[in-house]
Amino acid sequence: MSVSARIDLHTHSTASDGTLGPGELVEAAAGAGLDVVALTDHDTTAGWATAVAALPPGLTLIRGAELSCRWSGAEPAIPLHLLAYLFDPDSPELTAELARVRRAREVRGERIVRLLQADGIPVSWPEILAGAAGGTVGRPHIAQALIRAGLVATTTEAFGPNWLGQRYRLPKDDIDVFRAVELVRSAGGVPVFAHPRASRRGRIVPDELIVDLAAAGLAGLEADHEDHSPAERDHVRRLAAELGLLVTGASDFHGTHKTVRLGAHTTGIEAYERIVGLARGVTPVASG
Ligand code: AMP
Ligand code: FE
Ligand code: FE
Ligand code: ZN
Repeated sequence: MSVSARIDLHTHSTASDGTLGPGELVEAAAGAGLDVVALTDHDTTAGWATAVAALPPGLTLIRGAELSCRWSGAEPAIPLHLLAYLFDPDSPELTAELARVRRAREVRGERIVRLLQADGIPVSWPEILAGAAGGTVGRPHIAQALIRAGLVATTTEAFGPNWLGQRYRLPKDDIDVFRAVELVRSAGGVPVFAHPRASRRGRIVPDELIVDLAAAGLAGLEADHEDHSPAERDHVRRLAAELGLLVTGASDFHGTHKTVRLGAHTTGIEAYERIVGLARGVTPVASG
């Protein structure tokens, strides 16, 4: 891998709330000129095999996931996302926890739909589940139902305060973040805190938590992300330097559910090599 390699370590497919299938995603990544792409669907590894099978020449795939976590140090608990790279997908504890969170997402999704229906809003849970097509269901799938009903025009609007961002926002039963770091490490994976300062999505955690997570085995912080302002990116970079954590940048591509393009933000080769060097679960995949 050369120093000019283009590395995007955070993307979503139809295995969760993206709009390209895992095979289409790796094709698009190659088309966007990427050398490395990580597939990090929410709480699932279901897209891995299809992505590997479709991997175009010249592209390296990092198999990963984005874990739905929460920190219970605030009241109510603050939700946060942990990227996990190159972990063993057969680790029993981690697999069980992911299955539990996917189920919790269904419980939460159905409750949100009932709240909407109670206000006379015509959305249907079976239809939303069908829209997720077996992938991890999330609010973006409910957002599509609001768009279909003509209530909002865009996914962004559906995440506004009158809709899924606040009024119809319910918590789900996420994984305790310290347990998640421990489970990912035990499965040979590399945990990186996704968009830690993305305050426009909701409450963010204090830096003291990141200090404690670093001591507990967190490997890195995502700094260059669409939801971070330049000042927030600098802050994350400084914190990572203080704590000896690696720093990543990534698109968090979701297909047409978001406007950001593949490769909009990228990770440097040193951080990439540190991740690969730390991993003990599965290896990067390059097509022959
Ligand atoms: P959930 O995991 O069900 O809580 O939904 C969170 C997901 O919704 C994130 O992973 C994003 O894909 C998406 N999302 C969150 N905030 C926004 C937003 N403001 N606009 C569009 N999509 C968003
Ligand atoms: Fe998402
Ligand atoms: Fe995220
Ligand atoms: Zn993401």
